[in-house]
Amino acid sequence: GQEFDGLVAIVTGGASGIGAAIAARLGDAGASVAVLDLQPEAADAAHFAVQANVADDASVRSAVAAVAEKFGRIDIVINNAGIGAIGTIADNDDDEWARVFSINVTGIARVTRAALPWLLASPSASVVNTSSIAATAGLPARALYTASKGAVLSLTRAMAADHLREGIRVNCVNPGTADTPWVGRLLSQAPDPEAERAALNARQPHGRLVEAGEVADAVAYLASPRSGSTTGASIAVDGGMQNL
Ligand code: NAD
Repeated sequence: GQEFDGLVAIVTGGASGIGAAIAARLGDAGASVAVLDLQPEAADAAHFAVQANVADDASVRSAVAAVAEKFGRIDIVINNAGIGAIGTIADNDDDEWARVFSINVTGIARVTRAALPWLLASPSASVVNTSSIAATAGLPARALYTASKGAVLSLTRAMAADHLREGIRVNCVNPGTADTPWVGRLLSQAPDPEAERAALNARQPHGRLVEAGEVADAVAYLASPRSGSTTGASIAVDGGMQNL
């Protein structure tokens, strides 16, 4: 048998980038994977894809109910859906702060809350949140995004503490700049995308962007009983950037 045989995993934002790599990695190792995404049609056909907006509680509750109905259990929740925001505090207004926090932070509470009865019933419950290098490094002109990802790191610890005795582990990954459609969109806005990509590679401590599959491997470890003594932890997958 394989590592995740018989287990059911929810991956939010699993239709693109890091989430798609996580969904593939868990699926390849035997999990039944449910992708919750704004764009479920973009998910790999191998997964059970459900339309969901993590910023909307009714949408989340109905999507999680659909997963439970389909598979009869939920063991693993990967809270990966997230959006970026560029600017200093002068650049983003209250509405933008509320919108980004509702997706990047409250979305984690919403999805995990909806799945909680199923996680409590699972013998190997694990929650993994996608934070960011932004949580530990002071990136310029990313005030709102950085605050949201710092909150993800703190929320991970709080959830880990609250559900310790209930057998639910909660950890997070902090990716550095990763080669995903998100970063592709940013690069495509540059005057010379190829030169910008080369400059971005050169800014990474190991000279290249992080691969989505490298993040997925760390997530798979945290999702698996192999990390049974690890909760409230974060794994940096950033080429060492957080130490600079
Ligand atoms: P991406 O834009 O390629 O994919 C994000 C996915 O999330 C998309 O499929 C999108 O439809 C979905 N999504 C967005 N808002 C949603 C919502 N409200 N409800 C449900 N689904 C929603 O992005 P990515 O680069 O793969 O990033 C994934 C996660 O990794 C994010 O949390 C991001 O902050 C984090 N991250 C990315 C990088 C990077 O460099 N790419 C670095 C550190 C952290």
